[in-house]
Amino acid sequence: MLKKQIITAVTLVFVSLSANAQCAMCRAALENNVSNGNIGIAAGINFGILYLFVAPYAVIAIIAFFWYRASKTNSKNELLKRSMASKCPRCKKGDIFHYPLTRISKFSEMNSHCPQCQVSFTPEPGFYFGALFISYAFNVAIMVTISILLYFFIHPPDWVYGASLVTVSIIFIPFSFRYSRILFLYGFGGLQSR
Ligand SMILES: [Zn+2]
Repeated sequence: MLKKQIITAVTLVFVSLSANAQCAMCRAALENNVSNGNIGIAAGINFGILYLFVAPYAVIAIIAFFWYRASKTNSKNELLKRSMASKCPRCKKGDIFHYPLTRISKFSEMNSHCPQCQVSFTPEPGFYFGALFISYAFNVAIMVTISILLYFFIHPPDWVYGASLVTVSIIFIPFSFRYSRILFLYGFGGLQSR
C-alpha cells in the first residue's frame, strides 16, 4: 500500500501546474474592494491565511509545552529520553514498536502490549486517531520550513518545490508516524507510573 502511495505522490509532482494562492474571482473582488477604500474583506482573508499558516506551529508548541511540563513532574526526569527511545511509558523498559527504526520496511509494526509489563499500548479503541493531528502538525511544519528555506536561499523553479516537499515528506513518514504515536501515547495514554 505504501508503495502505491509513493508512486502516486511522485507522479503528482510531475504533473504539477502553477496556481495562484487565491482564485481569480476572489482576487478581482478583493482588488476592487481595496481600490474602493474598503480593506475589511482583504484584511479578513489575510488573517485567514496567517491563521492557517500559524495553526500547525501552535499545535506543536502546545504539545511541546505539555510534554515538557510532564517531563518536569516526572521524578527521574527521564520522559524525554524514554519517549525518544520509544520505550513503554509505564515501565520505561519495553519497546513500543516491534522493530528498531533502522528496519525501515517494518516501521509501522507496533507491539499491542508492552513486552515487559504487559500494559496495553491501545488504551481505548481508535486511540491513535488523535495522533493524526500530531503527524499533520509535524508534516506542515516540515513542509513550511523546507519551502521557506528554498525560497530564501535557492529560489528554485516551481517543480523543485514540489519534488523536494514530496521527497522530504516521504523520508519523514517513518519518523512522523512513530513520534506522533509515541507523543500521543505519552501525552494522552495515561500510562505513566505514578
Ligand atoms: Zn511496560
